[in-house]
Amino acid sequence: MSRNENRPSIVWLRNDLRLADNPALTAAASENRPLVVVYVHDETGDGIRPLGSASKWWLHHSLTALDAALQKLGGQLTLRSGPATQVLPALVQELDAASVHWNRRYSSARDIDAGLKSSLREQGLAVESHPGNLLHEPWHVRNGQGEAYKVFTPYWRAAQELAVRDLLPQPKRTELRWPDAAPVSDELAEWSLLPTHPDWAGGLRDTWTPGEGGAVDRLESFVIERLVNYHRRDEPAVDATSGLSPHLRFGEISPTQIWDRLRGSGAETVPTSALKNAAKFLSEVGWREFSATQLFDNPRLAVDNYRPAFDAFPWGYTVDQIGAVDEPAGVAEVEAWRRGRTGVPLVDAGMRELWHTGTMHNRVRMVVASFLIKNLLIDWRAGEQWFWDTLVDADDASNPANWQWVAGSGADAAPYFRVFNPVLQQNKFDPAGEYVARWVPELGTADYPEPIVDLRETRREALEAYDAVKAAA
Ligand code: FAD
Repeated sequence: MSRNENRPSIVWLRNDLRLADNPALTAAASENRPLVVVYVHDETGDGIRPLGSASKWWLHHSLTALDAALQKLGGQLTLRSGPATQVLPALVQELDAASVHWNRRYSSARDIDAGLKSSLREQGLAVESHPGNLLHEPWHVRNGQGEAYKVFTPYWRAAQELAVRDLLPQPKRTELRWPDAAPVSDELAEWSLLPTHPDWAGGLRDTWTPGEGGAVDRLESFVIERLVNYHRRDEPAVDATSGLSPHLRFGEISPTQIWDRLRGSGAETVPTSALKNAAKFLSEVGWREFSATQLFDNPRLAVDNYRPAFDAFPWGYTVDQIGAVDEPAGVAEVEAWRRGRTGVPLVDAGMRELWHTGTMHNRVRMVVASFLIKNLLIDWRAGEQWFWDTLVDADDASNPANWQWVAGSGADAAPYFRVFNPVLQQNKFDPAGEYVARWVPELGTADYPEPIVDLRETRREALEAYDAVKAAA
């Protein structure tokens, strides 16, 4: 066994691919041991949801950026693949590590973490989990009876009364020790995260800069240039939102950093004209927290209706009939929805924006989801799975929570009988048709399809179908 102070400390990064404000990294660095920063590509563990295609693309670039940032500090990123339950103990043994640190996750993957924590502790290691990815741990925001909030407004009111933890600076090069020999690492290219035949990622490359640097730049440009327009966040043609969701999803920036920029040490340099929009923006970050809390309390959020009465809903097609996301859908209407060929301009614009850029404006996400669920009577889970595969911000809490919100089956959800009318939504939020023209340039020509359904008729059918839920409630 090597001398005690030379036994390394492992930082296991997961959804926290950043060096600043990273509690696990800071805690490990403070031990003054050689530091091993590892990312484990785990597609097989129980409770792990394999990444969708757009997320894989993001992950590849985010890990590349992280490795470059670590190299600037004199270190490197270690990559390993396989079930974390095997890979991590093997790494501990190989390096004769003394401690392991990670930032918590809130999905059912936390069972993996809990198991590892107790087994590694039994072997005598110091193992610590830290709060790094939310403003507040889910179990800290509870009502008077100690239960989870089911409604957002009281949830967010209670959350804002809690203190936010202090921001942590990025460790300096001089504060870090590295092993004499870098641990063996997988080659990132071997993980095949990037698309090749065909390479569909051109639009993603044009839109995004994955990594901590890109995240910090986005926050800054948002606060200085776009926050002032945030009251127009519902208009998809207006560049009024932050675009931070994939950066938050991969933890390239923490909500604590965002909070500090607007409410803490950074607040002084927020343009006065933009300040009035800060509370609304932060409440959207609050919806992210509310979603994470739902997942924490309901690990099967992407599978089960949050409100069980929805189990009685008579969907037109089951998820099985629609089939996997990497094959043409077994239902023609769903294939038209995926490809942006429904003949309903706002829906098609959104679905094409998603395919091209890996994101879609929030207002339009609500419209396309409502169209799939209510006008096509497709199980919300089929839409959730498509978003999971195509969104760069696909999040195991926010994605199912929002799909269930639109379906009416979720926490604090839109009532099922509120069916978004895509034509009225376009008139209201894209009155000049600017957003639609950007994505559906052939509108008004013979190349554009007729609507695949009658909006009024299908709305009526959806409300009839909903009677089954009312009867079960
Ligand atoms: P901003 O308006 O700048 O908001 C700031 C941050 O707040 C976002 O980056 C995001 O982290 C959070 N946020 C905003 N709105 C929501 C919301 N409704 N729920 C949870 N967090 C929110 N968001 C995801 O991050 N991942 C998903 O997989 C996801 N799937 C969605 C599916 C559907 C059907 C719908 C209707 C919404 C979904 N959203 C999801 C929420 C929302 O659309 C995106 O977070 C938002 O469009 C991201 O753009 P922005 O970063 O510019 O948002």
